[in-house]
Amino acid sequence: MHHRTPQFQECLAEVQKGLRNIMMTQNPIALLASSGTGAMEAAVVSLLSPKDEVIVVEGGKFGERWREIAAAYGLTVHSIVIEWGDAVTPEQIKQALAHHPQAKAVFLTLCETSTGVDTDLAAIGPLIKSSSAVSVVDAVSGLGVTPLKTDEWGIDVIVSASHKGLMLPPGLAFVSASPRARRLMEKASLPRYYWNLHKYFNLVDKNDTPFTPAIGLITALKESLRVFEEKGLEAQWGHCARLAKAARAAGEALGLSLFARERCRSQVLTAFRSPAGVDSGKIVKTMRDEYGISIAGGQGPLKGKIFRIAHMGVLDEFDLITGFACLEKVLYRLGHSLAWGAS
Ligand code: PMP
Repeated sequence: MHHRTPQFQECLAEVQKGLRNIMMTQNPIALLASSGTGAMEAAVVSLLSPKDEVIVVEGGKFGERWREIAAAYGLTVHSIVIEWGDAVTPEQIKQALAHHPQAKAVFLTLCETSTGVDTDLAAIGPLIKSSSAVSVVDAVSGLGVTPLKTDEWGIDVIVSASHKGLMLPPGLAFVSASPRARRLMEKASLPRYYWNLHKYFNLVDKNDTPFTPAIGLITALKESLRVFEEKGLEAQWGHCARLAKAARAAGEALGLSLFARERCRSQVLTAFRSPAGVDSGKIVKTMRDEYGISIAGGQGPLKGKIFRIAHMGVLDEFDLITGFACLEKVLYRLGHSLAWGAS
């Protein structure tokens, strides 16, 4: 399909409507041909100007990424550093806003995929909305998996991508922006060209894009959104919440301990500490190379120490049952004693 055709315009209109439903927003959504990080960078360069101050919540790899992007553009970054495995509190956000009244934006992560922690945006969104800063949320892994009520919680900008909860291959990213965020964009002057979100938002109502869009992925997204429509967004959140509960119980039955604090455990994925003396990288490699089952290891300081099991998107209870059966075998082979079938 060529993109400047009525057929593709119809597809864009449908996708725009479906994505707004999933993000629970009336704000327009820009579709970018990139992975999630490209959309994060687009949000930074489109919202801010040289020397602007920003607040970043850093409790894992992806919070750090916000800081790294902002620093790459010379912004003044005030980080709220959270212990990995824990979540920022509304009180910490309140204090940061009070200490840095000049801050133009607060960058957060809905699900910190590196630690398996969800952020309490229901409490934090309205706090930021009542300040002069805009809230910018990385929902790359959380969208369509864990509750995200963009407009109700007063969140200004959401960044997400195709390859997690939306069940598609990588290569397509999304950014939604509130009227307040778009006003900030009008004044922003960081250098940018392809990542200038203005160009995208100005064409949303015309069902058009400034550059050649990722046509194949957008066509696939239409189908993914149809699945959400059929199943219901809340039902999908409930499905992931049940799988999360099952994954935690299964791991605990094997004597594994959970990495994230109880109050902020994610329903997107579960991070387990590797048993004493077992390198988590070995668990991941053996499951993948010998059994064809894909889980993830730890990143940065958690490399070798944790492993992560997803319960998002197309995964269902049978995937988890198979995954845990395999995990039992592999843990046993690596010297961890367990009761067969306990998970
Ligand atoms: N943010 C979060 C929360 C993520 O989980 C990921 C991907 N794991 C990213 C950002 C980065 O996205 P990408 O690798 O698609 O650039």
